Amino acid sequence: MLDVHTIRQDFPVLQRKVHGKPLVYLDNAATSQKPRQVIQALVAYYEGYNANVHRAVHTLGEEATQRYEEARQKVADFINAPSLECIIWTRNTTEAINLVASAWARHHLKPGEEVLTSAMEHHSNLVPWQRVCAETGATLRIAPLTPEGLLDMDAFRRLLSPRVRLVAITHMSNVLGSIVPVEEVVRLAHGVGALVLVDGAQSVPHMPVDVQALDCDFLAFSAHKMLGPTGIGVLYGKLPLLEEMEPFLMGGEMVREVTYERATWKAPPFRYEAGTPNIADAIAFGVAIDYLKAIGMSAIRQHEIALTRYALQRFAELEEVQVFGPPRAEQRGGVISFHHPDIHPHDLGTFLDREGIAIRAGHHCAMPLVRSLGVVATARASFYLYNTEEEVDALIDALRKAIRFFGRVGTPR
Ligand code: PMP
Repeated sequence: MLDVHTIRQDFPVLQRKVHGKPLVYLDNAATSQKPRQVIQALVAYYEGYNANVHRAVHTLGEEATQRYEEARQKVADFINAPSLECIIWTRNTTEAINLVASAWARHHLKPGEEVLTSAMEHHSNLVPWQRVCAETGATLRIAPLTPEGLLDMDAFRRLLSPRVRLVAITHMSNVLGSIVPVEEVVRLAHGVGALVLVDGAQSVPHMPVDVQALDCDFLAFSAHKMLGPTGIGVLYGKLPLLEEMEPFLMGGEMVREVTYERATWKAPPFRYEAGTPNIADAIAFGVAIDYLKAIGMSAIRQHEIALTRYALQRFAELEEVQVFGPPRAEQRGGVISFHHPDIHPHDLGTFLDREGIAIRAGHHCAMPLVRSLGVVATARASFYLYNTEEEVDALIDALRKAIRFFGRVGTPR
């Protein structure tokens, strides 16, 4: 059991009011709030040892380099990567996926070969593959979902031919919450010789993820969804692949030898980290990881299962509201997308904001998926370690109020 009351004290923003009401922050799938420890790590860097890394011989430079590389080690340990050379800093999940598209896929895919992804991907794990397939003549295939919104494993197996070179798949849907059985996906994909990239943007923040147990070839995730700052993310890759891939960006720090004519590349991870990196945010991300580890990822997962189960029960009381995604809390993360036939999700979002409740409304950067649900947008509530059953109650009460309100005044569809 998490001591949510104590945890909440660490998050300054959770103490504030919105429109005179206590903030109920239920937009964690978009970005999480930050504990004081993470905010202070940013201040400590800029006030105490701001310097560039891997260059200077002075004390500040050495301190910054040490903390920055310690943060990389924390990330490696957090996902059980075999070594810190497997951890590449990026801006976010999107950049990590684009890195693989650019540095691996563009050089390896040929006409007739395939990339296999799923029908529940975020645009950042769909659009890069559309582009790279168009450029290389490879074909993009989409594995469908079951009526409950889970990956259809029979269809996935059928689509998995020896033509597939890469499976790019989410670990957890940011719209449906559905969890993909990544271990099985990897085993099947490796069976036909395909590599697997896992979009861990929604899973790494919310459950234990072990890259060696999953045996995935690449894993992408963002710090900002897991108590860390914006502007820093990670690509994990198996070292032999990273050693063989071409660089993504060219410039300082990624080169070994440079003449006027040509250059040779450093070994990973530096080969993929051209230019001055995001030092402060990487260090603060390390502190976010310390925070999550101290609480325990299994405990966080259990808390979110319990909260999601409770929320699904409470949502079932609202007869007209449709909830998307798998019915059981164990099959999903703490993400609940929902829709009322007579209220546009944006109107709902605005109404709830007046009650101090922050949710997201829209297509959640997964337009094809949301359209396939038969709607143009959904409302989405998403939980994290600091959310409580009382906040779920506040959401349900506010939804009842919204339904009464819009039932009277009507809303344009
Ligand atoms: N994939 C999934 C499943 C996501 O939920 C998100 C963020 N909404 C992303 C990728 C992209 O993450 P970022 O915007 O941090 O690059």
